[in-house]
Amino acid sequence: MTDFLHILGNGDSMGVPRIYCDCEVCSESRIDGRNRRLRSAAYLEAAMGDGLWIDIGPDWKEQMEALGKRSMPVALLTHAHYDHMAGLPEWADCCRWTKEKGILYAPAEVLTQVRERYPWLENQLHYREVDKGTRFGDWSITTKKVCHGKNGYSYAYRLQKAEYAFAYCPDAINLGAEEKAFLTGLDLLVLGTSYYKEEFDFHTRSVYDMTEAVELIREITPGRVYFTHMSHGVDVREPYPLPPHVSLAERGMRLPLARPCER
Ligand SMILES: [Zn+2]
Ligand SMILES: [Zn+2]
Repeated sequence: MTDFLHILGNGDSMGVPRIYCDCEVCSESRIDGRNRRLRSAAYLEAAMGDGLWIDIGPDWKEQMEALGKRSMPVALLTHAHYDHMAGLPEWADCCRWTKEKGILYAPAEVLTQVRERYPWLENQLHYREVDKGTRFGDWSITTKKVCHGKNGYSYAYRLQKAEYAFAYCPDAINLGAEEKAFLTGLDLLVLGTSYYKEEFDFHTRSVYDMTEAVELIREITPGRVYFTHMSHGVDVREPYPLPPHVSLAERGMRLPLARPCER
């Protein structure tokens, strides 16, 4: 029985279109919509039992409707930035109406930041620290603090079930040896890349671009890679020169979490 990872959103912190912007990509996204991108989030569809949401951004409501889900029992948070957690108050409100408390997994320092930002949520949500990892059904989840450049730190998660391993790492840059080791030996990597080539000074940046990510991938050799967290600097109509096992994530994708021979 195969589990699947759904891509609920593949956009950067502002999504595409950016409200203020009339660039070619933002304009296309308003008309044909191939470049329309909700804020990055994912959903692990388990063959048995409930699924697991990863990140709850400001597009959460639309993502829930697209999934056809009426409740979200369990979610995992990568870090306490607006584009990854702005849906938390709305989730908590849903829990208030349905009288079913949700469970939020996040590292302790992230939960502290969530408490500071939204002090009322614990009436409706149970918080669980995930620094030392946890389990979700058959999956073991391990946690790694990763460099998020000028934005400080984020977390990446590695989920392993039998022989299969995947990682979700939407917001990272300039990873060191230990962080790379955490991402080694993966069947699937979902990695944030805001641009194909980001021209801003490296020290002002917070997420890999695709050219740097390709270098990283050469080192950590995942079986399959999808880029997410893409800004209006990425045009899906462009034939970016990427290795054959690397693709741009698309909203609505449902990626099987098993090696081809096991499906
Ligand atoms: Zn982000
Ligand atoms: Zn734009």
